[in-house]
Amino acid sequence: SGSNLSSLIPSLIDSSTSFHRIREILDHPATVTEDAHSLELPSSLPSIRMDEVTFGYTEEANQLHNVSLRIAPGSYVAFIGPSGSGKSTALQLLSRFYDPKQGSVSINDYDIRILSEASLRKQSTLVTQDTFLFNTTIRDNLLLDSGASEVEMIAAAKQANIHDVIAGWPNGYDTEVHHEGGSLSGGERQRLSIARALLRKPNLLLLDEVTSALDPATESDINQLIERLKSEKTIVSVTHRLSSVMNADCIHVFQDGRIIDSGTHQELLHKNNLYRTLWDKQYGFNLSQDGLYATVEMD
Ligand code: ADP
Ligand code: MG
Repeated sequence: SGSNLSSLIPSLIDSSTSFHRIREILDHPATVTEDAHSLELPSSLPSIRMDEVTFGYTEEANQLHNVSLRIAPGSYVAFIGPSGSGKSTALQLLSRFYDPKQGSVSINDYDIRILSEASLRKQSTLVTQDTFLFNTTIRDNLLLDSGASEVEMIAAAKQANIHDVIAGWPNGYDTEVHHEGGSLSGGERQRLSIARALLRKPNLLLLDEVTSALDPATESDINQLIERLKSEKTIVSVTHRLSSVMNADCIHVFQDGRIIDSGTHQELLHKNNLYRTLWDKQYGFNLSQDGLYATVEMD
């Protein structure tokens, strides 16, 4: 197929998509400006820093307060915390969809405000729950402007556990998507968006609640995929499914726009009340019985 992204734009406009969703796919943040002397970020496994970041969507209120964190190259980091605690907002700042009011976000020790937008987009991909599919074929939806080959497309679809589903349709990868993907299940859309993200070969993969629409078996497959991808990518995953953070190198616990604690699963179980409460709510085991958590069956 010779379709490229620009040939998809008419169907995109036809579908009267919200600006936010178009931006998500085309990766053009509306709220930030590129530095006149922007630098190209050399492609490498990135380290990430947030230094005393304060941010608000409006002048009046702030949604992140003095957030600092460091993420080592090739690590797998999770953000957890109650709904509205600022996890998605932090991911959006890592993607530079917005700039902080105070403080800075850095990749490989470069403040991301001095990096070219193109090189930032090349390095990092954000996958959200709100998967946008165009009214075109599955193939074009997966490839977009990635320049990936058919072989790479199938490999990515296999990694995201969606190849068998697509191969089972009469038209396979030529199947037309209708109603912006309304004809597909939430789990299918989610896995397509993961495959699409992999095809862009980002060094930094940002995942926002990507397993929440998946059944437990598929969720477990995606968690295994994350395990395989870590070390070849830096991964930051926002999730409310605590089973998927057990193997994270570091978990940051968000509350009211602040990081209130950080550590591994075992460390947080022992030292953080909020983490323990969230875990307890989800899996309903009695933490007073020491050691029981180690034997709880997840999913
Ligand atoms: P989480 O991902 O942890 O559930 P969010 O980062 O989405 O939390 O939200 C943090 C706070 O910011 C919430 O109070 C939410 O209502 C607010 N918020 C999120 N997105 C916007 C937005 N686009 N404009 C204004 N407020 C927002
Ligand atoms: Mg969120």
